[in-house]
Amino acid sequence: MQFLLVGAGLSGAVIGRKLAEAGHRCRIIDARDHIGGNCHTRRDEETGVMMHVYGPHIFHTDDEEVWSYVNGFTEFLPFQNRVKTTARGAVYSLPINLLTINQFFGTTMRPDEARDFIADQADTSITDPQSFEEQALRFVGRDLYEAFFKGYTEKQWGCSPTELPASILKRLPVRFNYDDNYFFHRFQGMPRDGYTPMIEAILDHPGITVELNTPYRPEMREAADHVFWSGPLDGFFDYQLGRLGYRTLDFERFTYEGDYQGCAVMNYGDRDVPWTRITEHKHFSPWEDHEDSVCYREYSREAGPDDIPYYPIRLVREKALLEDYIALAETTEGVTFVGRLGTYRYLDMDVTIREALDTAATFLGCLAEGKPV
Ligand code: FAD
Ligand code: UDP
Repeated sequence: MQFLLVGAGLSGAVIGRKLAEAGHRCRIIDARDHIGGNCHTRRDEETGVMMHVYGPHIFHTDDEEVWSYVNGFTEFLPFQNRVKTTARGAVYSLPINLLTINQFFGTTMRPDEARDFIADQADTSITDPQSFEEQALRFVGRDLYEAFFKGYTEKQWGCSPTELPASILKRLPVRFNYDDNYFFHRFQGMPRDGYTPMIEAILDHPGITVELNTPYRPEMREAADHVFWSGPLDGFFDYQLGRLGYRTLDFERFTYEGDYQGCAVMNYGDRDVPWTRITEHKHFSPWEDHEDSVCYREYSREAGPDDIPYYPIRLVREKALLEDYIALAETTEGVTFVGRLGTYRYLDMDVTIREALDTAATFLGCLAEGKPV
């Protein structure tokens, strides 16, 4: 059969590969001039540093099958993200750990003492935290919340943390030891040569053709037996019910002779610093040797119609609109909506790959059994 896959990011590539391996022909199109979607990496022309073009990407997962899948296409080297944050004129370690707590409060507490101390800071009147702010006040108390989360979150999401769901903060742990690894997954790493060669290898199959600079046009559906759509869900329907809200990012590039900040990611917790974080890309490839450095100052703002959609907002208005689009998608025959944009969810790379593998397997299973797809 002949399939059309819209988007040459991880979703399109992984699904396309599985379908091609099963003997089908896959035409993968992308509006951009490169493969890899938001995971795209390329070398900076001036410094030769490997750049995470659409923001910092660290691979982390507990899913052994996904880890083995990506390692089958490229070499991963060990990498752990050790994020720092600048707040109130000092530098602290993230996620909040014993070093952060002792430094912030000027103490020398042991783990149990710190746990009791933070429990005393916590607002125990909040029994079932609903908002981001309630979650923070309940688990870290007002002082740490205001220094590290409040300003950053207002900049990142453009609204008060009282309006955001608690789930956003639940991504971040609080540790009562000196473990400063940003993630707690078993498998963590960075592709030695960036993500683009990995996705290139996934796409390298005789059953797959890739067309870049090719935005989707509705008549393309006619030649395809089925479409896999990893573009924006509302975009498929020409935004007929309205636009789902996104935050977009602006990256301000600057170079530096030497080492600018000594780590890959430095967050900025203070509200009056307009950027959220600075990424120094050469620290993502510590096995490479670069004299000069190139950094991105990252700013977040509401996405306009021509901006790249990065973070789905999913507040009350979006949730209602999303339900309407999902209902529309369910009645649209011959199209499967996949990935971060196609399902309007925050998906890490490992979850994106897991879902893509499962989508392809379910689809092929239905085909084999003659069931409707
Ligand atoms: P995308 O990568 O968005 O690909 C969709 C593709 O579809 C794009 O290339 C787009 O050009 C194309 N497209 C859209 N509309 C059309 C159209 N009409 N016609 C043709 N083509 C179209 N995950 C992690 O695991 N670790 C991290 O550290 C991490 N950091 C991140 C940091 C940032 C700032 C962001 C935004 C995401 C991060 N992620 C991270 C998540 C990761 O980027 C996603 O999991 C992954 O990119 C999802 O792949 P996808 O193929 O679903 O979507
Ligand atoms: N966050 C914060 N301060 C920080 C880092 C994160 O307040 O220094 C909040 C912010 O609201 C962010 C959320 O925690 O959206 C999740 O953080 P994460 O690092 O997972 O953000 P992402 O990878 O989505 O950019």
